Amino acid sequence: MKVHEYQARNLIRAYNIPVNDYRLVSDAREAREASMAWKQVVVKAQVLAGGRGKVGGVRLANSPEEVEAKAAAILELEIGGYPVNKILVCDSAPIEKEHYLGLVLDRSRQGITLMLTDQGGIDIEELAKSNPDAIHKLTLHSDIDEAILDSFLAKSISSEKIRRQAILTTRNLYSLLLEKDASLVEINPYALTPNGKMLALDAKINFDDNALYRHPEIEALRNPEESSADEAEAKTKGLSFVSLDGDIGCMVNGAGLAMATLDLIKFHGGEAANFLDVGGSSNPQKAVDALSIILRNNRVKAILINIFGGITRCDDIANGLLMAQKKLNIKIPLITRLVGTNEKEGRAILKKAGLDAIYDLDDAVKAVIKAARGIS
Ligand code: GDP
Ligand code: MN
Repeated sequence: MKVHEYQARNLIRAYNIPVNDYRLVSDAREAREASMAWKQVVVKAQVLAGGRGKVGGVRLANSPEEVEAKAAAILELEIGGYPVNKILVCDSAPIEKEHYLGLVLDRSRQGITLMLTDQGGIDIEELAKSNPDAIHKLTLHSDIDEAILDSFLAKSISSEKIRRQAILTTRNLYSLLLEKDASLVEINPYALTPNGKMLALDAKINFDDNALYRHPEIEALRNPEESSADEAEAKTKGLSFVSLDGDIGCMVNGAGLAMATLDLIKFHGGEAANFLDVGGSSNPQKAVDALSIILRNNRVKAILINIFGGITRCDDIANGLLMAQKKLNIKIPLITRLVGTNEKEGRAILKKAGLDAIYDLDDAVKAVIKAARGIS
């Protein structure tokens, strides 16, 4: 789960990490009023997407009038597919150097990896590609050893006095990540000011969805815009659905089989439009619900139905498909692979309606890729 910058700021501030002062507002006039006391103001779009600085979502203002104008302009933006509905106004900090400080749950290193560079700011992604060695990494496994942490931080921060602040902040960030089951915490910029203070000017936190049940206060931060309307609807219908960018719709029973199906589509050169697990139940209505959600995406050029019947019965799925065909006026090719429980009955039902089912999964995947490309 992702949260907005202001929510991440509230959390890191609660963990005693120094941040510049900020207020959340929802219109331009409020932005002006909330920031009256500050000389220079940073006006920031609150969206669940990064890279705001590069697209005009973060702007400096030097007067109340400018704050109002810039807030109004930012509220017109759409960033990473999200409209801007909330604005954060911040007391702008003078910056001497922009560091990046992050902690990430690192599966490949089997620990929490601490990342640091003194070349932080809006170009951090490019830096990670062009000069990855400039980002220092240290993998933590349990308690942080003070001496090791200090010598690590010295790679980016030479002054011992300033490093003391970074040591405390790193420890606090580490506690936050562990205690709240975050998978990523990032401060970028982690800014050094001319008077020698290290301040978080931006914060990003991702949480492990599977651990949210033990953190009701984090679950309460959930922003409904994070899951698309289709994903939210699928959830209420007992389907697990994730939108992807390709043109092949998929309806599969079982999450493991669904992932294997996506892998195979990719392997054979196709691109899936979604992940969709109809689960183990045998209710034909589920096939109708699933197909209606898949069909809403007009990028979808063909649909692969991959059913390995166990608890799910192939005849129920076949009936569901016929129901869906009647109700939904499906105009794109459906490729069906049907094996397992009541496979014969299922095939017979489809055959009667003039539909064929493929037995072999590779064949079915190749067929749907061809169909999506308009080759029959
Ligand atoms: P992001 O682009 O979405 O990561 O947004 P950030 O909050 O990181 O802001 C982008 C850039 O705006 C930063 O890298 C800074 O250069 C600048 N910025 C953000 N806050 C401040 C501030 O308080 N003072 C100054 N001078 N610049 C800021
Ligand atoms: Mn940032």
